[in-house]
Amino acid sequence: MDLVVRNVRLRGMDEPCDIGIVGEVIRRIEPRLAGACEREIDGDGGLAIPSFVDSHSHLDKSMMIYQSPPAVSGTITESLARSYVAKRSSSVADVVARGRQALEWAVANGTGAIRVHSDVDFGWGTTGVEGLLELKRMFAGLVDLQVLVLPAANPLNDELRALVRRGMDLGADAIGGSPHLEHSPAGVARYVDFVFAIAKEYDVDVDLHIDQNTEAASDTRGAEVVLAKTLTEGYEGRVTLNHWGALSAYPEDEAARVIELAKEARINFCACPKEELIISGMGPSRIKQLVAAGVNCAYAHNNNADMFSPYGRMDMLEAGLFTLHAGEFNTMTDAETVMDMGTVNPARIMGLGRYGIAEGATANLNVLSAPSAYEAFRQNADRRYVIRRGRLVAETTTRTKLHFDVAGA
Ligand SMILES: [Zn+2]
Repeated sequence: MDLVVRNVRLRGMDEPCDIGIVGEVIRRIEPRLAGACEREIDGDGGLAIPSFVDSHSHLDKSMMIYQSPPAVSGTITESLARSYVAKRSSSVADVVARGRQALEWAVANGTGAIRVHSDVDFGWGTTGVEGLLELKRMFAGLVDLQVLVLPAANPLNDELRALVRRGMDLGADAIGGSPHLEHSPAGVARYVDFVFAIAKEYDVDVDLHIDQNTEAASDTRGAEVVLAKTLTEGYEGRVTLNHWGALSAYPEDEAARVIELAKEARINFCACPKEELIISGMGPSRIKQLVAAGVNCAYAHNNNADMFSPYGRMDMLEAGLFTLHAGEFNTMTDAETVMDMGTVNPARIMGLGRYGIAEGATANLNVLSAPSAYEAFRQNADRRYVIRRGRLVAETTTRTKLHFDVAGA
């Protein structure tokens, strides 16, 4: 073995075990691996999990809060307007510098794959896409980045369509969008048609912001349009819907019907509660119902210190704690569901192969300073050891020393 991680717990297993790694691959998992290895790590009974997967991120705008006008109303409309102002003075080098800082935090916090939505609009052009593709090269081997083109202006016109194609031609991995921001039902339909045409032309996945409000009766509601299109185009399993706050406002019977349709279309769903709770009028979706229906559900960190979410440090355990609260996941075993939503479920969305802690899988894993998923979220456990492709890339140990005595103790 090239590296042995000793004395760790795996989810669903009672007894601690050792993980033996050869090169970039997990070769053996046993209660006690015999023989000494030159490089050993003592997991101290902590939980070992595969790298976090953050399937919805706006890394192009990470740390942009310092470049934008201050918030007044806190609405999504205002956040979008502030982002257009900030993007005007942001170059490719600026995207790379801000993104690099965020990705270093992501690595330290145990995130191994991120799907990034990159704005494409008239003022910024493909600056964001270019910066993110450069970051993808820089961080190869540390974080697997998938870069999406997000048409970030409405209504969608021919000039924006051309910009989207330019972004795709640069090497983007998938197509994003926000159909509900169109100005009419016909505009929503045209937008969705265009997104699917690009997806089929470039053979990429569709990953859309959808109905980011709490208006069940909006004229530009997009979810059902996308679900129908997914079925007619035979794109089942390749479409992800994000946010979807409006679903929470549907009457119960209508929500149940649409969730059933989402299941039939094998839609993935990604919640971003860190943003949904802080932007006025957005609100989280019916996360728990979607999970219960068997829809592949993930949560994501989303924005990081920008116009949409002023807080963040690229920490998926922290984002998971928001998900537990926003989704009313209030039992200890619910923590297992949400841990899946930050690991194996988004790995399916991103199509990551050889993912997980198993013999033969790529050795991308975190050893936490807590023994279970519940304790990991409760304590915001240290990522004691972060291993990427068999290599130790980060370690963190938080120490607190108490300088007082308790009376009567
Ligand atoms: Zn987003």
